[in-house]
Amino acid sequence: MASKPPPGTEHASLNSMPDDRHNEATHAFAPFALTSAESSGRVYPQAPHAYRSAFARDRDRVVHSTAFRRLQYKTQVFVHLEGDHYRNRLTHTLEGAQITRTITRELGLNQDLAESVALAHDLGHTPFGHAGERALAEMMQSHGGFDHNRQGLRVVDLLERRHPDYPGLNLTDETREGMLKHGCHWEHPVRIPDLTGQRSAEAQVADASDEIAYLNHDLDDALRAGLIHFDMLMELPLVGPLVGESIQRGKDASQEVRRTQLVASTIDLLVTDLIHQTRSEIALKKPNSPKAVRALSEKIVKFSPEVEEARREIKAFLFERFYNHPDVLARTERSEQIVEGLFCFFCELPQRLPEPVQHRFDESGQERAIADYVAGMTDRFAISEHVRLLGPRPDLTL
Ligand code: MG
Repeated sequence: MASKPPPGTEHASLNSMPDDRHNEATHAFAPFALTSAESSGRVYPQAPHAYRSAFARDRDRVVHSTAFRRLQYKTQVFVHLEGDHYRNRLTHTLEGAQITRTITRELGLNQDLAESVALAHDLGHTPFGHAGERALAEMMQSHGGFDHNRQGLRVVDLLERRHPDYPGLNLTDETREGMLKHGCHWEHPVRIPDLTGQRSAEAQVADASDEIAYLNHDLDDALRAGLIHFDMLMELPLVGPLVGESIQRGKDASQEVRRTQLVASTIDLLVTDLIHQTRSEIALKKPNSPKAVRALSEKIVKFSPEVEEARREIKAFLFERFYNHPDVLARTERSEQIVEGLFCFFCELPQRLPEPVQHRFDESGQERAIADYVAGMTDRFAISEHVRLLGPRPDLTL
């Protein structure tokens, strides 16, 4: 049985916690938060919902989409065959969305919008992460190219089928804009959000949260896999001192507890810095509307210069020691072969594609329809299709 706190202290400790009602009351929208009333709308206009905002509806549509559920079996860095405890695209997305909520709430931004962007941001990812993306980009080189941002827009604008009257999820322009991280000059059958100025503060928060999420969980997963070790982190800015602290604090702690503590402290540090620096930017530039945020010459959501530098170093470290680790690279190459093999197989024998994919040839062109199909596959479906159509799969474990 848990020991009882000394009399009188239990309420004292509860009282020292921030009060939810207090937080709700003081976290009103900032003047530059983007509200649903200011949305430029959907491709297919719809009457407002009785009690859900336009952005809350976007978020809910994303969560209920097929593409969202498929994220569960799509690689972040490790394929699912390597263990149940590594991140996949779905858990990455949820970790990013959770960080997005904390930051938007603190800054008085529109949580519904930021969350819908965060939950949708990876819907265009192929099986096997960036390896699959590289393989499709190569295959599609002379057919208009391929990248996961653009694919995300195809998923929400065209490929999801939810409604009798229109294709896609019919999301607001603001959520769609948030999904496109950079300008896009490719053909797209419906209007593309205007990306000439800065994106909304909410989209900027979703981006930063994505980065905070993956830097941390990739460190965690690389440590878990034994591809990097605590002592290799000692030289890193920001993380190094936290490693020292976590060792000091829990001398007898297990590796798992130490890892978890390190990741929790690093996330907290990055999130806190981002909030403080963004508040300083707001105080300096005083944007008084979402339009004013867009008109700024640079992003309003940012880290302090020191933490920004540290962030770059952590990212460079992950590239060198983790993403480019010989074991990871060897697996990457084998997964590229699966994606390439499937794409080429269907180009040669399009009659072997499911009928709905063949029906899309007229509208999208054969190669694009095949790329859409292969990109939509989960890792495990791609593997089983490769086995069924092309023989035994290459070994994908590290
Ligand atoms: Mg992401």
